Amino acid sequence: MSPAETYDVVVVGGGSAGIAAAVGAARNGARTLLVERYGFLGGSATNASVLSYCGLFAQGTAIEPVVGGVGAELLDQLGRLGLDRRPIRSASGNLIVMLDPEILKLALDRLVGSSGAELRLHASLVGAATDGRRITGVTIQDHAGPCDIRARAFVDASGEGDLAALTGALVPAEAIAPGRHLQPASYPIRIGGVAPDVAFSKAVMSAAVAAYNATARFPIHRLSGGVGARLPVSGDLWWLVADLETDGVSAASLTAAELQGREMAFGLVEALRAGAPGFDKAHIVSTGPQVGIRQSRRVAARESLSGAAAEQGLTRDDGIGRGGWPVEIHHGPGRIEFRNIGGKGYFDVPFGSLRAGNTDNLWLGGRLIGCDDIAFASVRVMGTAFATGHAAGLAAALQAAGTDDVAVGLLRSALSRQGAIL
Ligand SMILES: Cc1cc2nc3c(=O)[nH]c(=O)nc-3n(C[C@H](O)[C@H](O)[C@H](O)COP(=O)(O)OP(=O)(O)OC[C@H]3O[C@@H](n4cnc5c(N)ncnc54)[C@H](O)[C@@H]3O)c2cc1C
Repeated sequence: MSPAETYDVVVVGGGSAGIAAAVGAARNGARTLLVERYGFLGGSATNASVLSYCGLFAQGTAIEPVVGGVGAELLDQLGRLGLDRRPIRSASGNLIVMLDPEILKLALDRLVGSSGAELRLHASLVGAATDGRRITGVTIQDHAGPCDIRARAFVDASGEGDLAALTGALVPAEAIAPGRHLQPASYPIRIGGVAPDVAFSKAVMSAAVAAYNATARFPIHRLSGGVGARLPVSGDLWWLVADLETDGVSAASLTAAELQGREMAFGLVEALRAGAPGFDKAHIVSTGPQVGIRQSRRVAARESLSGAAAEQGLTRDDGIGRGGWPVEIHHGPGRIEFRNIGGKGYFDVPFGSLRAGNTDNLWLGGRLIGCDDIAFASVRVMGTAFATGHAAGLAAALQAAGTDDVAVGLLRSALSRQGAIL
């Protein structure tokens, strides 16, 4: 093994949160490494075809951005690459920005490249070393073998909490009540071969689901037809219909979900071809690349944002970012509930939710921040992940610069200097 490399900040995971963390930290002068297991950035957007950014705007009738900084910069970068980044109203009435995955990958390469952060794709976090309440280094693995990396501060933006799991920072299993809510995974698909003027509605999809379910080994639970839209650039149909139960972390459980998802996707498109007018040439353009995981491990943070605070639209002096997406609870396959955000249509995410409870130099972003299951149903979206990741990366950079007990006032000033909306 080669001698350990040294950075100020290591960010694990190149999804929305990790990208914002790495860019924010590097722009603050920290020598930053961003580690991503796939060959491209984007997280769920690109690795699971989650092709709409939610949470960039306050809930309500006005178009009011709640995420600035790195998230806003990315929208500008997407616009420069020719993507129409104006928000549209989703079927739920909330504002979303539709994405093209290939444009997004390039935009993210350029955004991270311009920040000065070093990027290591095809590199997976596989180990961590600790000393008391601190992480001293991590081990990443590529085809060449393992590589040790030392740093002063770390951000877990892996979605599945891989770094927190290695350092014992997870919510302990005994604290998780039996039957605790775990949002199901979904299998997004892109369908091509359907002319732009062909109507694509819940009624069309519900009929196809019914036809598929009549003989299916793995029935689709979203009988209402699920949610979907036309994608920009390609005009393909994007559909999130197949909900799946998986723990999101073990190969055995993930394998079962992938196999079921593919069966469902092909069976559904076959039913569309057979029964829906204008769908006779419909075909699957792509699945995945992997099943979309909404929720798996949770980390014990210093503070847990409550669902009540999100639903009341509570703002606070130690807020480090805003959430504006409604609480969108997936109770189980096919069972979805929306709850509105009160107040001004957004709430503040508290500083304490970014920091691991028992590890002093571990910061959390995206779907790993401290929150209960109801707040999770809002903060998990990618717009909010940009905001929380940005704050986590900057906090890590400030800590690495010598301020071990990072003051929230200092962090808020640094975030404001980088354009974050607080
Ligand atoms: C089916 C589905 C539909 C959704 N719909 C929407 C939607 O329409 N709009 C929206 O905004 N949000 C949506 N969400 C939620 C959203 O996609 C996620 O909550 C969000 O992507 C979280 O961002 P993140 O950066 O925390 O994690 P992720 O996007 O999951 O990124 C984590 C990154 O870490 C990498 N990684 C993981 N482990 C390691 C490791 N050990 N080493 C190196 N790298 C690692 C992964 O490859 C990944 O790139 C949906 C989610 C799902 C599953």
